[in-house]
Amino acid sequence: MSFRVLTALFGHESNSFSRLPTRRQNFADYLLAFGDDIPAALAGARIEPAGVEEAAQRHGWELVRSVAAWATPSGPVARDAWDAAVDAILETARSQGPFDGALINLHGAMATEMDPDGEGALLEALRAVIGPDVPVAITLDLHANVTDRMMRHADIVCAYRTYPHVDQVATARRAADVLQRTMAGEVKPRCVHARRPMLTGLDHGRTTTDNAMTRLLARATEIEQTDHGVLLVSIQAGFWPADLDQAGPTVCVTGDGDDPRFGQIAEAFMDEAWATRHEDSNTYLSADETVAALRASLARGSGRGPIVVADYSDNPGSGAYGDSTFLLKALLDAGIQNACLGTLCDPAAAATLVAAGEGAQVALEIGGRIDPRFGPPLPVQGTVTRVTDGVYVAQGPRWKGVTHRLGPTAVLKVGGIEIVVVSNRVQLTEIEAFTQAGIDPRERDVVVVKSMQHFRAAFEPIARAVLICDAGALSGNDLSRLPFTRLRRPIFPLELD
Ligand SMILES: [Zn+2]
Repeated sequence: MSFRVLTALFGHESNSFSRLPTRRQNFADYLLAFGDDIPAALAGARIEPAGVEEAAQRHGWELVRSVAAWATPSGPVARDAWDAAVDAILETARSQGPFDGALINLHGAMATEMDPDGEGALLEALRAVIGPDVPVAITLDLHANVTDRMMRHADIVCAYRTYPHVDQVATARRAADVLQRTMAGEVKPRCVHARRPMLTGLDHGRTTTDNAMTRLLARATEIEQTDHGVLLVSIQAGFWPADLDQAGPTVCVTGDGDDPRFGQIAEAFMDEAWATRHEDSNTYLSADETVAALRASLARGSGRGPIVVADYSDNPGSGAYGDSTFLLKALLDAGIQNACLGTLCDPAAAATLVAAGEGAQVALEIGGRIDPRFGPPLPVQGTVTRVTDGVYVAQGPRWKGVTHRLGPTAVLKVGGIEIVVVSNRVQLTEIEAFTQAGIDPRERDVVVVKSMQHFRAAFEPIARAVLICDAGALSGNDLSRLPFTRLRRPIFPLELD
């Protein structure tokens, strides 16, 4: 028997404290496709819809595609973007049903200008169309904030198990397999969840070291394999710059039927998350400490590959502006040589540099345009060494096969640093972000990336060392700066120790 399955991808991680609303055009700049145009738009892209398509083939589903939409994290989703994606999902649900199941790929930390719980609103609206009996499976980012409202409307919950996230396809496949068993009548999934008064924890979800997250993930796999009533254990580290009552880490256990042990498993996992809440495997350096560490390392002579410096607090992947100049200024003042930095998002500066053309000597201000508190505009003088259209296909494991569009792009060489100035905000996760601009990061002594953790997937293999710099931009670790109004209080780490 062939099951008819409604599918969608609508993913956004919204930083409540960003001044930049996320509009339809921001999705169009990254990924926005509808209906049967989706397979062509995602050809070769190793993200969730690829796992859904593969599962559909394997299980013989009739797949009904509605939308595939993803944008770089930024401020809450604006009405035009919400309407574009949600109207497509609901209209498809209304006009092309009935369905045997739904498989919806979400991030799980979307806020909109209308509702701080975007996914809760979406799933509630979808339920109103398809009714209470159609099983709904959702996939989530490992940094999802999971709300009670989301859980009222989802039967099957399955999050990534890697950070850097490199298991998008596998995650969709795991959710699809449980949905298949559900539609076939083998299991009746119900999902329970647990949380604690914590906004951060689980070592931010990192899976590149031995920590609470990797220990719990190993236990989750073991329970899934040995307890046949447990269909999926899903661990979310949460997303902290979200002014949402229920933000923070959660554990979801999708079990077959009702059994108190499913809730007990979720609670036991969260007990461990609470007990280990202070664990943080990173050493965070200030901009000045970063310069000192670089000088010490460079003085020991060149090693194999560059020292990769993460400009952690200006990571567009968590909604920062990608135009902070704190770290860049410190590196320029220190006279660091044979270095590159990517990417600094400043459309106005990019336009000036592109217009000046390759070889031009230019004096201008770069960065700091959106909120100068997080790194003000920096006056610089340099040479335009390359102009590009900023388009490349990601080859690294994070976004393999996805086309990134940085928009009009110029490389400005200031002192010993080549700065990749771009027009669209994209987290620097891919070596191709540099090579498309004529820079081979393997040949540099210092490579600065505006990323927190995802850069590790592609850059650790070429790096001789990694430094993490929290220079004080929007996504820095000082959460006390963020003016929360909806978050439940008291909460760790703001009040509770
Ligand atoms: Zn994430």
